[in-house]
Amino acid sequence: MIRVSNLTKRYGNNVAVDGISFGIRKGEIVGFLGPNGAGKTTTMRILTSFLAPDEGTVVVAGFDVFKEPLEIRKRIGYLPENAPLYLDMGVLDYLNFIAEIRDIPAGERWMRIKKIADLCGLNNVLKRDIYELSKGYRQRLCLAQALIHNPDILILDEPTAGLDPNQIIEIRELIKEIGREKTVILSSHILSEVSATCGRVLIINEGKIVASGTPEELSNTATRKEKIYINLKGQKESIETKLQSMSGIASFRIIEENGGELLKYVIESDGDTNLSEALFHMAVDNKWVLTELRKERASLEDIFLQLTIGER
Ligand code: ADP
Repeated sequence: MIRVSNLTKRYGNNVAVDGISFGIRKGEIVGFLGPNGAGKTTTMRILTSFLAPDEGTVVVAGFDVFKEPLEIRKRIGYLPENAPLYLDMGVLDYLNFIAEIRDIPAGERWMRIKKIADLCGLNNVLKRDIYELSKGYRQRLCLAQALIHNPDILILDEPTAGLDPNQIIEIRELIKEIGREKTVILSSHILSEVSATCGRVLIINEGKIVASGTPEELSNTATRKEKIYINLKGQKESIETKLQSMSGIASFRIIEENGGELLKYVIESDGDTNLSEALFHMAVDNKWVLTELRKERASLEDIFLQLTIGER
């Protein structure tokens, strides 16, 4: 449904999107996950043909985004980060207005609005003015405007930003419901958001895709690595020489030194070795007293942080 190849966008010297490529199949719900400034909005604006890239190609439903932007806009519903609402309009008037500019024939408009209002749970606010609506209802209305022309693809930029926890759950459920029939891309800087809603996640950092997969796949990659907290009584230099020469250790760091007696380390495994036993034997063989050995698995949150802010 969407094929992005080698996409690059610069703002002056700042490379906002740096040669990214990915594909999205029909019916997928895909999350763009990355910290603020990662390049998510820029990518979405290019996909929706609001912004031209410096390099690369984007093909949506068989159409080139830059050669046939009108065909693209017919097939895409877009919810930008700051939702486009006219606060002094009535809800129904607004939906009518959007249906009109989307070229929906006058005779079909009411049916279409009715269907979308049902789907987005707007029936009991159709007669209200937009300024009276809560933020949750405003977001539903924004989703409705993005869906009114029945697009195959929905692109949502930070769809739950600024909502309270109940509203977030409602909007997530709504997105999942919509995702049964449509291809959906949503962006977020919140990990739990994408893992709750999306079948696949692309992690973006500094304009590049740094990881991709289902939330489970990313989680499995993350959990192979383990952190081990170990407390030892022994001579610091010999302990550290041993740790340096041991295989399976990606890094180690001293976290507490109690007057030179008790030494506390945090050790990170390279992901493939079971380190606990090796560390235990190391202590016994060297007659170091081992007072604690505790394992902590890296969470999906850890892998996201490692990928997007480097070493922790
Ligand atoms: P995200 O949506 O992931 O927060 P953006 O795509 O908005 O990231 O921004 C990516 C980078 O591009 C940031 O460094 C941002 O400051 C820069 N940027 C975005 N829009 C503009 C613009 N219109 N002019 C100049 N720089 C921009």
